[in-house]
Amino acid sequence: MAEWEKYIRQVVPYVPGEQPDKAKMIKLNTNENPYPPAPGVVRALKEMRVDNLRLYPDPTCSSLIKVLAEYYGLGEDRVFVGVGSDDVLAMAFLTFFNSEKPVLFPAVSYSFYRVWADLYRIPYECPALDPEFRIRPEDYKRENGGIVFPNPNAPTSVFLPLDQVEEMIRYNRDVVVIVDEAYIDFGGESAVKLTDKYENLLVVQTFSKSRSLAGMRIGYALGNPKLIKALHDVKYSFNSYTMNRTALTLGVEAVKDEAYFRENLAKILATRERVSKRMRELGFEFPESYTNFLFASHRRVPAKKLFDALRKRDIYVRHFDAPGIDRYLRITVGTDEEMDAFLNFVEGDCL
Ligand code: PMP
Repeated sequence: MAEWEKYIRQVVPYVPGEQPDKAKMIKLNTNENPYPPAPGVVRALKEMRVDNLRLYPDPTCSSLIKVLAEYYGLGEDRVFVGVGSDDVLAMAFLTFFNSEKPVLFPAVSYSFYRVWADLYRIPYECPALDPEFRIRPEDYKRENGGIVFPNPNAPTSVFLPLDQVEEMIRYNRDVVVIVDEAYIDFGGESAVKLTDKYENLLVVQTFSKSRSLAGMRIGYALGNPKLIKALHDVKYSFNSYTMNRTALTLGVEAVKDEAYFRENLAKILATRERVSKRMRELGFEFPESYTNFLFASHRRVPAKKLFDALRKRDIYVRHFDAPGIDRYLRITVGTDEEMDAFLNFVEGDCL
């Protein structure tokens, strides 16, 4: 090993779901929205002035922060935006988790948390979920250097009721508690309203799922002005121009069209209910989903076998080969046609 190689940062990277690009595939593996972004987004993209791309974007992201602040009825000093919620969360880990004490996050949750903690050398501990895949608030009543968890949780799709979220925040007023609400628009109750009451609460959301903009990379955090300022200070110490011009413009348009947003969500929820019912009839078991995916195992057929058979047919779902969850598949709710194709194939060829 050369001398310089000894000083390379050792990391085990996060592995994102695969992004195949096939004309006829059915892609239910990364929880994207099956419907296009709002018409205003499409229009704004067509009207974008390419000559402006020679100019840097607005480093303060003021247009996007303004519409989000209006949308939530919060001051602009309570909104932070970034390149997808991954960027916002990574920035939040760097900003808030600087204690010697371990950060706590559930053993089964978003697997990126472990990667950021390792990257930044943050100690952590991972309390188990209960047998129904629920977070147990009492496990978070111990010394810690911060808390982060998705609600609804991923990949389980289970929602922790807001009174229990509040119990966790109330008990942990000496550390920052991050609630990752990537899937909140599909069910459950947001903790955003608790940011008035608890200055140590940061809520993180994304445009990737409910606003059909995964490809644009837009995420945001809402919280007390002190938390938001701390995030901005770290951001400006890292990269001033995180959001590009296109993302800022299209993000604004996506927030403006509330009717389209509601209609899009309603379609996905209707499909989720219909598919849930049929899957149970076919022998699948899964917790009630508060998200745009189902976390399902079959009573007889192993998950890996289903995964391989589906993949051969260019139907992509996600299988995590990890302790406690390897019996399950995470299946994104697609369009009705996609889900019927998925169900028909499973019923006809796999069971
Ligand atoms: N949090 C959770 C729980 C997620 O599942 C995801 C999606 N992989 C993210 C955050 C990040 O999403 P994005 O960076 O696209 O906003």
